[in-house]
This record gives sequence, C-alpha cells and structure tokens, in this order.
Amino acid sequence: DAGPQADIALIGLAVMGQNIILNMNDHGFVVCAFNRTVSKVDDFMNNEAKGTKIIGAKSMLEMVSCLKKPRRVMMLVKAGAAVDTFIDMLVPLLDKGDIIIDGGNSEYTDTNRRCKTLAEKGILFIGTGVSGGEEGARYGPSIMPGGNPDAWPHVKAIFQGISAKAGPAQEPCCDWVGDEGAGHYVKMVHNGIEYGDMQLICEAYSLMKQALGMSCDEMSSVVSDWNKGELDSFLCEISANILAYKDTDGAPLLEKIMDKAGQKGTGKWTGISALDMGVPLTLISEAVFARCLSALKDLRVTASSQLSGPQNTKYEGDKAEFIEAIRQALYASKIISYAQGFMLMRQAAQEFGWTLNYGGIALMWRGGCIIRSVFLGNIKEAYDKNPDLENLLLDDFFKNAIHKAQEGWRKVIATAVTLGIPVPAFSSALAFYDGFRSERLPANLIQAQRDYFGAHTYELLDKPKTFLHTDWTGQG
Ligand code: NAP
Repeated sequence: DAGPQADIALIGLAVMGQNIILNMNDHGFVVCAFNRTVSKVDDFMNNEAKGTKIIGAKSMLEMVSCLKKPRRVMMLVKAGAAVDTFIDMLVPLLDKGDIIIDGGNSEYTDTNRRCKTLAEKGILFIGTGVSGGEEGARYGPSIMPGGNPDAWPHVKAIFQGISAKAGPAQEPCCDWVGDEGAGHYVKMVHNGIEYGDMQLICEAYSLMKQALGMSCDEMSSVVSDWNKGELDSFLCEISANILAYKDTDGAPLLEKIMDKAGQKGTGKWTGISALDMGVPLTLISEAVFARCLSALKDLRVTASSQLSGPQNTKYEGDKAEFIEAIRQALYASKIISYAQGFMLMRQAAQEFGWTLNYGGIALMWRGGCIIRSVFLGNIKEAYDKNPDLENLLLDDFFKNAIHKAQEGWRKVIATAVTLGIPVPAFSSALAFYDGFRSERLPANLIQAQRDYFGAHTYELLDKPKTFLHTDWTGQG
C-alpha cells in the first residue's frame, strides 16, 4: 500500500532501543526497527514487537525508505565509534533537512563535533540524554535533547509523548536543552549529581550503622520516613528497600555485599569538566574519589590493622535527635551538590555559548530518571521565580532550608570527625558552604606566596586590577 509509513526509525535493539521502540508504539507512533546484527530484528519482531505496528527493516536502505519526511532516525547504540559508523552510513541515504538523533551516552564533545559536521551537510543532528534505565525507557524516561534547534519541532511530539510526566501539572520530563552537545552535557551533570546523591545516602547509612549501631530494618524504616518528606526521591526509596531486603538465610543481603564501588566514568567526566572550567564542584568530585577509595579494598584491609583512630566509635547522646541531625546533614549537603551542579552548567553555557533553561532542566530531572525527587520541583520553582538566579543558595527557599538544617549538619560532621567515621561528601559540602559565605578567604596569602616565589603579582583590596610585585626578600 501507500508509501512510507513510519514516523521514526530506531537503530539499536539492545535494552534501551527495544524499550524506547515499545514506548513509542504505545503512544501511537509507527517505528521502524533496525540493528547491526540483523538477526536481532527478526527476534524482536517475532517476540516483543509481535502484534504491534512496529516495522522491522533488514537493511539501512529498507529502513530509510519506510520513513515519512523529514526522516527521523534515532540511534541507541554503544557510545563512541558505533555512532560515527552509523552516521557515515546514514548520510548518503538521507536528504537535506532529515534528522539524526543519538540517544546514547555520548560525550558532549563528540556531540558538538557531530552537530557541526552534519550541519554542513544539511542534516539536523540531535544528541540527547536518556535517563531512567530499562524501566524508564519502557514507561517514561527523562529525555534531555540538544543539538540543531531546527530539528526540535519535528521530534517534540514524539519525545514529550514518551517521556515521564511529573509535578502537579504532569508536565513532560523533556524539553529542548540547548545547542550542540548541551543535551549530553546536561545528562553528564545528571549522572554526576547521581554519584553525589548516592554517596550522601551512603554516609547517612554509615553513621546510623556505626555511630548508632542500628539494624538494617531500623535504618530501612528511617529512610522510608525520610522519603515521605523533603528528601522524597527515587534513591531514598530504593535504599530503604535495599536495607530491608533479606538473603535466603534471613540476614540482610546488603551486609554481605563487597564494599568496592564500580563506575563507568560519567561522574569522572563531570569532575574533569569542572576542573577544566574552574568550577568548585567539590561534592560530586568527592563522591567520585570516595568510590576510588572504596575500590582499594585490599590496601584498606591492610591499613585497618595498622592505622589507629578513636577508640570509641559510638554516639552517646540522644538517638532520635541524632537521626534527625543526619537527615538535616543529608538535606543540606544535597542542596550544596545541586547548587554546584547548576553552577557548572551555568559556566558551561557561558563557555560554549549555549542558552540553558535551568528551570526546564530541573523539570526534566523531576521524573523518569535516577535522581528524580520532590526536591527538583523546588529547584524548578526557584528558577521560575527568577530565571537569572545566579546561585541556588541565594534563592529564599534554599537559603531558609540551609539555615534550618545547619545546626544538625554541623553537629553530625563534628561527631563523625570525633568518632573517626568518614563523611567526605557531608564535610566537603559544609566546607564549600563556609567558603561560599566568606567575604574574606585566606587566598591573599596564596597570592603573596605566588608572588614571592614566582613573581606572579597580586592586587590590593583597595586597588583591584592594578598588578603589583614585591621583592619579598629585600626587607630587613
Ligand atoms: P549497548 O549495550 O550500549 O549497545 C548495544 C547496541 O549497540 C546493539 O544494538 C549493538 O549492535 C550496537 N553496537 C555495539 N557496537 C557497535 C558497533 N561497533 N557498530 C554498530 N553497532 C554497534 O546498549 P544499551 O544498554 O541498550 O544502551 C544503548 C545506549 O544507551 C548506550 O549509549 C548506553 O550508554 C545508553 N544508555 C543506557 C542505559 C541503560 O540503562 N542500559 C541508560 C541510559 C543510556 P549488535 O546487536 O549488532 O551488537
């Protein structure tokens, strides 16, 4: 029958691709499916896609010919060379104005490059972050698209249709992020924030376990309670479930798991980008290093029998009060982490000439993804109130929240230090806060030292922009 039928093609029939296709099909879009290993197309068509409107293609040519114009081709393949390989194969098959979308976890620098190269050929490129794993892909992910803005009107209905919905108005967790690699950049920061959030919950767990000697069931019920208030989030929810989970012998499975954290690199990339741009992204970076330290298990085992710390590791005061203080420390540190994450995106926007919609980003993260939380609704409101907000910590809601949590936060860190329990993310967050609110920091001495040994010059407080040098050894 009549000509091209498919609204979009999807290349890559692994976990993410299959689930996104089924999600698109549920929302009434006709999808054409293709995969490098073509036998997987048949497998998919004969199983998961059976009885749907999904079309299976046996070749790229067949795939392209079943697409309505402008053609939309989305890839969900392994990040890196596979994306370039498919782009090279697609370009000769496409016309000017057609759209290629990369939905994998590509590095934003690759997306910057692909966007430019394809624009020269008249092809509109989108690099989009997709978060939420298998479940999200199937029933509503968070989608963070960036690239050629001319492509957005052609994919908006599909992307916003299949994305998660969140907030009182059930808004789609998908909006245009910005030019070039902005979508993948924001996805990278999302993953960095995920590292931070996970580490913060781990430190709360560690304090409850070590300082208070609580059982996993007790901790599970505490974290469940936290999940009903301002800390309401997917990561608190799953942590409560993990704490409650029993192995076949009835003991908590969690306590049997090797304490060596893995990582795939997106947290590290976020930290590297922050270092490159000079943004004090201390909490996420500390969370990456905490994973690195955890990975040195053998060395830690050796050190644990040789290096001493405080004898007493138990908190002697009121238990309920201390649990509440831990909650406050977690909340305050989380505010710092997001404030730093948004500082990083602001700097990246400046550096790359992107216009980012910060409230929109908070909304995209509000549902569908790993860091989804009620808290992101508060961030959205802060940017709705003031789209030019320079720093989240200067918003009234967050200012008050930090002021309220501050006492517990300080107490928890002081106690942890006294008992010898490591809380790197809690304490780096507080150090940032105290530095951020300091009119005067000791960097004047750094400038003097630099001038002393390297003649790097310095400015005087009352004469900025005039650079002076002193012969520091010439006196006396
Ligand atoms: P994946 O394991 O990352 O990739 C498998 C897919 O890539 C298959 O279709 C495979 O084709 C294709 N592929 C691999 N190397 C290729 C090459 N050199 N040339 C052509 N095709 C190649 O799949 P995934 O887990 O579904 O993830 C897809 C993308 O989404 C990735 O970028 C991933 O990082 C990202 N992502 C994943 C998740 C998740 O939870 N899994 C979440 C968010 C984002 P064959 O079948 O022929 O091998």
